[in-house]
Amino acid sequence: MGGNEMPRFAGPGTLFRLPAQDSADGLDIAIMGVPLDIGTSNRPGARFGPRGIRAESVLVRPYGMATGAAPFDSFQIADIGDVALNTFNLADSIGIIEAHYDRIVTAGAKTLSMGGDHTVTLPILRALARVHGPMGLVHVDAHADINDEMFGERITHGTIFRRAIEEGLIDPKRMTQIGLRATGYSAEDFDWSRQQGVRVVTAEDCWYQSLSPLMTEVRDRIGDQPVYLSFDIDGLDPSVAPGTGTPEPAGLSSSQGLEIIRGVFGCNLIGADLVEVAPQYDPSGNTALLAANLLFEMLCSFPGCKRR
Ligand code: MN
Ligand code: MN
Repeated sequence: MGGNEMPRFAGPGTLFRLPAQDSADGLDIAIMGVPLDIGTSNRPGARFGPRGIRAESVLVRPYGMATGAAPFDSFQIADIGDVALNTFNLADSIGIIEAHYDRIVTAGAKTLSMGGDHTVTLPILRALARVHGPMGLVHVDAHADINDEMFGERITHGTIFRRAIEEGLIDPKRMTQIGLRATGYSAEDFDWSRQQGVRVVTAEDCWYQSLSPLMTEVRDRIGDQPVYLSFDIDGLDPSVAPGTGTPEPAGLSSSQGLEIIRGVFGCNLIGADLVEVAPQYDPSGNTALLAANLLFEMLCSFPGCKRR
């Protein structure tokens, strides 16, 4: 049923009111939620991200007016539900998530994921790297997420990209981190990334300007190799995205967020995620609504998406 026939506030509870199915069979792009938040270091609540984003996504319509993109005319897409993780055990959940994505990648689908805290990205990357080898990465975040450990734990939402680089899932020479800022545990917190060859673009580097020129450089850096997009909503400013667990002041604008995602179009994007939305800290619903729009833009940036 078309978007102008069923009222926007009614209809299926899936993302964008898409068809639901249990597996990724027959899909070009599988959408799913990963409602895990036991890897967070501060406020919990990202387990409610997928449900909150699906609820607000009813306002997203099928065509991008600026880009002319028509993802639903271009790809077979469905919402395949949530990963049935074990909310009492982080290590067990990491294995469950990885096995889940193994099945999706084996079915031949690309993945669009809703977190959950940022820990979920590590098992996703492990599954995708088995097929694609070391990938490029566009990482939007207030934080570098490259701690060696937190409270002695090697896998948390603040350690995942150190693990991903150590494990060879990501090629640091084709990785860019955008939006990093605020306070650290030491003044050298972002240096480990730089030492691996990652391009680090701080929030201050982004203030007051279009990010389109930056994205031209990012695309050149990635080339035609497979690339993954991981978007932590706290990369954006808390004035537009307060519903998150570790907000930091003076972040990216929502339009800069769109420029980053749109700037990935033209690359060999093989998967993307939007993480760290904790809807209960934003009673307006705007964080989840923005997240839904960012996920729509990600669909529009998969290779082969038709443009008007
Ligand atoms: Mn993060
Ligand atoms: Mn973050």
